[in-house]
Order: sequence, then C-alpha cells, then structure tokens
Amino acid sequence: MSTFKIALIRGDGIGPEVVEQTVRVMERVGEKFGHSFTWVDVLMGGCATDAVGKSYPDGTAEICRACDAVLLGAVGGPKWGSDRPAHERPETALLAIRKDLGLYANLRPAALRPALADACPLKRETAEAGIDLMMVRELTGGIYFGKRDKYQTEDRGVEATDLMAYSELEIERIGRRAFELARLRRGKVTSVDKANVLETSRLWRATMHRLAAEYPDVAYEDMLVDNCAMQLVRNPGQFDVVVTENMFGDILSDEASMITGSIGLLPSASIGDSAPGLYEPIHGSAPDIAGQDKANPIATILSAAMMFRYSFHLPEEAGAIEAAVDRVLAAGWHTADTAGDAERLVGTREMGRLICEEV
Ligand code: NAD
Repeated sequence: MSTFKIALIRGDGIGPEVVEQTVRVMERVGEKFGHSFTWVDVLMGGCATDAVGKSYPDGTAEICRACDAVLLGAVGGPKWGSDRPAHERPETALLAIRKDLGLYANLRPAALRPALADACPLKRETAEAGIDLMMVRELTGGIYFGKRDKYQTEDRGVEATDLMAYSELEIERIGRRAFELARLRRGKVTSVDKANVLETSRLWRATMHRLAAEYPDVAYEDMLVDNCAMQLVRNPGQFDVVVTENMFGDILSDEASMITGSIGLLPSASIGDSAPGLYEPIHGSAPDIAGQDKANPIATILSAAMMFRYSFHLPEEAGAIEAAVDRVLAAGWHTADTAGDAERLVGTREMGRLICEEV
C-alpha cells in the first residue's frame, strides 16, 4: 500500500470542476489497487489574486515541492487580464511554477481515441491508420526565456529583438527524456529543428546525434520544422516520440492536438529531474462554460493517468484509467464538446461518475 501526497491547484473557471472529478477517479483507482492519497490544496491563479493580491503566493513552490506530484486544473480568465500588473496575472504564476520546479520537459500525448475517430479533421483513411504520438517540448529555454530588447533606430523606426539561446546541457537533458520515453513506447524518436537556418538548431542536431549513438535500440530521424508541420496533417501515424525546442513545440503541439479532436480530451505532463511533476489538461479555464457542469473532465483525468505512469511508475493504474475512458466513450457517452449521440449527453459530474464506475 502506497500513500501519495498530491498538491491540487484547482485554479479558476472550470479548473475546480475538472479537478474534482479527477480526484474521484484517483480515489477509485486507489481503492482498486490499494493506494491512498493526501490532498493538499494550493491557491494559485486568479483566485489567489482575489484572496491575497498575488497570483503566485509566497511559498507556493515549497508546498508543491513537499508533494509527490502536482495536479493543476486551469488558471486565468478575463477578470485578471493584461491590464493588471504582472504579479496579479495568472499566466505569471504558470511560468513561475514551471521555472521554480525545474520542469524542463513538457510531454503531450496526441492519441486519437478509437471511439472519436469521426472527430478527427483528417481524411478517414489517415484517422483509421491510427494516431498515437508523444510531443516532447523543451519548456524552460529558447526564445521565450531569452534576452529581449526594444529600441528606437535612426532610420527604421522602432526595432525589437528576442534572443534564442540553447546550451548543450539543456538539449541533452530533454533529448535523454525523449529517447527514454521512446524505449517505453514504439522505439522511434523524431528530432525537429531548423538546422538549415539556425545556429541553435545546428547545435541541437549535433547533440541529438551524439545521444542517438547511445541509444542504438531506438530509431532516430531529423526533421525540419516546416516539414514536420506538414507531415503532422499528411501522415501523423509515422510519429512516435517527437522532440523539439520550446517555440517549435508550442506551435506543433497545438497542431497535433487539433488532429485528435476535442481540446477537452488532451492531457499533459511537465517534468524535471527531481521535483514533483506537474500534470494538467492542455485546455484553459473556459470561462464561457464555467460553473455550468458542462466541462469535459477527461483531459484532466487522463493527466492523472500520466501522473501514475511517469511520477509513480505505475503503468497498470495508468492503463486502468485510460481503458475506462475509452470504454465510456465507446459506449457513446459524451460531454457537449465532443460529437456523439444526443441521448447520451452528460455533464462534468456524470462523466466523472461513469469513468469511476468503469475503473
Ligand atoms: P480555453 O482552453 O479555456 O477555451 C477554448 C474553448 O474550448 C472554449 O470555447 C472552451 O469552452 C472550450 N473548452 C476548453 N476546455 C474545455 C473542456 N474541458 N470541456 C469543454 N470545452 C472546453 O482557452 P481560452 O478561451 O483561450 O482561455 C481562457 C482562459 O484560460 C484565459 O485566461 C487563458 O489565459 C487561460 N489559459 C490557461 C491555461 C492553463 O491554465 N494552463 C492554458 C490555456 C489558457
């Protein structure tokens, strides 16, 4: 019997609703497999700004570090928009927690769930061939964290620059994550760069080649980012693990999400070397449907499955959640965001209950 201490950042909008259903499912998994949980509520996001005047209250990272994993619903909303100072904006808290916990690898599986093949916007034969890939995005380096500048020139008006920098250390640690994940999956890594133009990409590629030699059991290929964007819609079935730098990963992972249907279904994990991993749906706080029992809790529930697999090394428990979700969807149950039989339309709470029952 294991006991896990989980930090719960319920957040804003639909965040608390989807987290509540995920806690139910995890408790059910605990009953079945003999685990128990201690839940630690952590205030972060717009709700924290309202309560204490800061979206990332002092001590947030320390509370999370004392836990085995962090589950996050979503933060943000129009109430805490860009007119607010940075410390009151929920996005500031998101960047800060990733940085403070050293979460440099963002894992986003994009798998077409069999029951939702009709929701895939690609050609039927492409969907039928199956899509099951894992995007591994570098999360704490590159152009989003580089030096920025904006200045007046003499003859060209205002000019702005953003610096993209990568070190071998940063590339190597994300690369190892990708190769090790590929060993747990179908044994293939596609490394995406723009080595025909960018110096950072040439360093990226050289470092990846060095690593590839250490993993002879994993098939390896390089792909230019523009080609990858095209291949994701032409033949996504060719990909297993796709690893890339921060900005390319930001864009490509959204593209990969779209080809697998609803945003309400896609989980993610952000992990580092030692601190607890952070697990969250890829969607935001959906203020338009908050508090109406309409949100799809599946993305958060599947994020919990990732937590079992990657933080607790319990693949059977992870598989039990994923299989339960597939059975509920295959039976035709759906929330308003996924296409399906109108007679089997359910709300957030009922979807959570159905998944618990299937577990
Ligand atoms: P969003 O993902 O919240 O919503 C986009 C659309 O998808 C909306 O129509 C929404 O109703 C729908 N949707 C999203 N999740 C759903 C679910 N689980 N079930 C059913 N429908 C769902 O994106 P947005 O509208 O651009 O952002 C809203 C707020 O969320 C903003 O403040 C944004 O900054 C924030 N945000 C937070 C995170 C995060 O916490 N990690 C990520 C993205 C956006």
